[in-house]
Amino acid sequence: MTLPLAAHHVTAPRLLDLRGEFPGVPDDWAYLDAAATAQKPRAVIEAISQAYARDYATVHRGVYARSARMTEAYEAARAAVARFIGGRPDEIVFVRGATEAINLVAQSWGGANLRAGDRILLTELEHHSNIVPWRMLADRTGAAIDVAPLTPDGAIDTEALIARIVPATRMVAVAHVSNVLGGVTDVKRIAAAARAAGALCLVDGCQAAPRLPVDVAALGCDFYVFSGHKLYGPTGIGVLWGRAGLLAAMPPWQGGGAMIDEVRFERVTYAPAPQKFEAGTPHIVGAVGLHAAIDWVELVGIEALAAHEAALTALMRAELERIPGVRLFGPAESAGILSFAVGEVHPHDVATILDEGGVAIRAGHHCAQPLMAWLGVPATARASVSAHTTEADIERLVDGVKRVRRIFG
Ligand code: PMP
Repeated sequence: MTLPLAAHHVTAPRLLDLRGEFPGVPDDWAYLDAAATAQKPRAVIEAISQAYARDYATVHRGVYARSARMTEAYEAARAAVARFIGGRPDEIVFVRGATEAINLVAQSWGGANLRAGDRILLTELEHHSNIVPWRMLADRTGAAIDVAPLTPDGAIDTEALIARIVPATRMVAVAHVSNVLGGVTDVKRIAAAARAAGALCLVDGCQAAPRLPVDVAALGCDFYVFSGHKLYGPTGIGVLWGRAGLLAAMPPWQGGGAMIDEVRFERVTYAPAPQKFEAGTPHIVGAVGLHAAIDWVELVGIEALAAHEAALTALMRAELERIPGVRLFGPAESAGILSFAVGEVHPHDVATILDEGGVAIRAGHHCAQPLMAWLGVPATARASVSAHTTEADIERLVDGVKRVRRIFG
């Protein structure tokens, strides 16, 4: 495939050349499933390996030097996360991932604050992990869930969402970037509207943290969550950022070691946040790996990554759109993620044929069944780009989609 000259001019200057940094991504494999989980740069793999092979010990409890150094590394990771998203270290709670972060807020804040008659506002495009914890909370408390609509092209309709905020609304929980359609949410306006109405705003930043600059202070939200593994870090580590005052007032949600002040059988007092929310031995090396990932992203530059992904996504849209029978979903301005259909071919068949040509995409409902219902399809094919993605990867995808068309007539 030869790319149109215009596309070359638009995209080439903005593209990064980082393939060599990813030992897990050979040149002849187009890994276009970063929205599910990101491949890891060498710097992250080495940091994890060193943390186990050279520096490993427990944190917070050991009195020997190795443990003290590991504790410093663990807390340095917290400080790096805080810097990365514009919060304070004591506002960063390490969790397993975005899913656990939202469950923590729903159970702790929600359990303590929501009553029958209160309302939670979500949107049509949320990931199941930003729906199910709220549904569970609503079932437990008698609170109700409202759903904000989308624009015809599949982005959150900001005005319509704001119109759905009523005096009983206590929480507005939205994705910063849709994991299916890639649209970017106007979090700043939504958080301001929530605040004006006396509600809190939680932002699911899973797909935004690896793709866009994030500044929680500028966004004006109350909670921000993301997973390390989508930000070039390891699995099993994620982040809940919450305003200090909110975290201080929230009850712990899991009990055990490391989160206490004093324990008697009759009475337990708790450590301050964030330790109050980190019961048990934490994912020490996960935090170290996440720190390395953030350092790597900062070295490359999140703005440069955003520009690289925007250019590749625009190219992918332009090239796929030219293939007869291909239907693209989602807004034209999407951050790194594109869902599509090839005629009536089942997305699983599309993904299987692409795999035969060395192209890895995701096919399915992407943990967003309400959004599939809104789109009127059971599933989509989804390609998502990353730091290591090249124009050649997009060519492979486009060639593969043409092959799907040939095979299915
Ligand atoms: N929210 C969004 C928008 C996501 O894309 C994902 C992961 N697919 C999640 C939440 C859940 O993240 P995790 O499985 O890492 O907890």
